Amino acid sequence: MDILDMDRAHVWHPYSSMGKGQPVFAVGSAKGVRLKLTDGRELIDGMSSWWCAIHGYNHPVMNSAVTAQLDKMSHVMFGGLTHQPAVMLAEKLVALTPQPLQTVFFSDSGSVAVEVAMKMAIQYWHDKGMASKQHFLTVRSGYHGDTLGAMSVCDPVTGMHKLFSDILTSQYFVDAPSCRFGEACTERDIAKMKACLEQNHMKIAAVIMEPVVQGAGGMRFYSADYLKQVRHLCSQYGVLLILDEIATGFGRTGRLFACEHADISPDIMCVGKALTGGYMTLAATLTTLEVSSVISSGEPGLFMHGPTFMANPLACSAALASIDLLLSSPWHQTIQQIEKNLADGLGDCRNKAAVADVRVLGAIGVVELEQAVDMQTVPYRFVEQGVWVRPFGRLIYLMPPYIIGQADLQTLTEAVKNVVNGLTQSSV
Ligand SMILES: *Cc1c(COP(=O)(O)O)cnc(C)c1O
Repeated sequence: MDILDMDRAHVWHPYSSMGKGQPVFAVGSAKGVRLKLTDGRELIDGMSSWWCAIHGYNHPVMNSAVTAQLDKMSHVMFGGLTHQPAVMLAEKLVALTPQPLQTVFFSDSGSVAVEVAMKMAIQYWHDKGMASKQHFLTVRSGYHGDTLGAMSVCDPVTGMHKLFSDILTSQYFVDAPSCRFGEACTERDIAKMKACLEQNHMKIAAVIMEPVVQGAGGMRFYSADYLKQVRHLCSQYGVLLILDEIATGFGRTGRLFACEHADISPDIMCVGKALTGGYMTLAATLTTLEVSSVISSGEPGLFMHGPTFMANPLACSAALASIDLLLSSPWHQTIQQIEKNLADGLGDCRNKAAVADVRVLGAIGVVELEQAVDMQTVPYRFVEQGVWVRPFGRLIYLMPPYIIGQADLQTLTEAVKNVVNGLTQSSV
């Protein structure tokens, strides 16, 4: 049996069903921005493996950081033990993120980092004698992960809340910000957020949001001014602010962290995805001394969470190398150049009948269609053109590794244009 047949018979893929023969391609290796399929074809990567592989694949500096750590130890438990990769990474994250964030809780995936953030917020208020603050307020079209707590703050429709209504905690939702990135946020834009906080702040532990870019919930870019006002309202109403930088962190939006667009800092921040440059699974939840000291001095005086692979040394070493690589590169100019090339390359799509919107921010380029993409055929259209692009819903988007060259980037944007043109022709 060939590997694809075995895959179809036994292996689940993300957001898919078994037995429907959805297109799946087998990768044998990857280097730079190219994925090499086992049938010999090479694909230019337009996805960075879901925001992660910012330095591309099989990077010599990353490889040697991981192998050097492998020679020492791949893992030890973190209960009662510590190690240099974890401590150095925590120091680095504290130095890079906004100043009030001073303590770091490592976990093994983004969803878990969000669970940790939510538990921290609830425990903080419990220990402050305000145990009624157990819920969260967020905006629609958000995405924070697939575990049950994280899911409860994802968009209720795309997160399929109905299906899990008996076990999902009900949270407070307001409409997604309608003011776009670069626009001001009017009183009207923020009114519902404000009203919800005013009415329910005694039940709300924290507002949780993705800063500036809503990723998997719709690839929307909203006003930094909106975020600034949310920060202000949180402080005013005694509610913590959790920013989920799992997708946006490490330069993707043109700033190291997206909250910098709004010049604010959260009380709790989650990072993941590009943290290790896509080498290993690792995430972290950072918080302030205020939050950590209240939790640590309250009752029970412990934070009750501790993943088996907490602060995995291989992953921490990869993260240290990835951050060094990023910071020692002219990443700011690089992202600006990618932004310009994406805007130039995708701009033409705007005039097509099948296209509802085209938007670009940092190294993220989005073509929003009028109708959902046919995932039985469109993946083949991209692979035939030698690129790896994976749309979802009505969205075709590019977020290439930062190391991508201009010619490869152009191949990606041309491929998107060709696919969009094909849609236009077949739908009129
Ligand atoms: C991907 C993502 C998560 C979940 O991370 P996993 O590592 O897949 O669990 C959470 N929040 C945001 C904003 C994400 O993009």
